[in-house]
Amino acid sequence: MPEGLDGEELRTVQALQAFRWVCPDCDTENFDRASRVAFETPQDEEQVREALGARGDEEGFVVQAPDTVTCRNCLAMFGLE
Ligand SMILES: [Zn+2]
Repeated sequence: MPEGLDGEELRTVQALQAFRWVCPDCDTENFDRASRVAFETPQDEEQVREALGARGDEEGFVVQAPDTVTCRNCLAMFGLE
């Protein structure tokens, strides 16, 4: 367990995948959550994982970016390329 400056054990947080983008209007750096792709069947997910090059023993989820994002500073909305 990592320790803080005083030697006490640090609390932990879960790191989640996110998509980073910069607002073209106000130059603010934004982060939006990645969402887990919902597959009809486990076989569908396996096909996509194989197409992405994931090894069979690799853990993890297939994720996707949101369709639209909103700047946390100026509230401008954009589609993603
Ligand atoms: Zn902005």
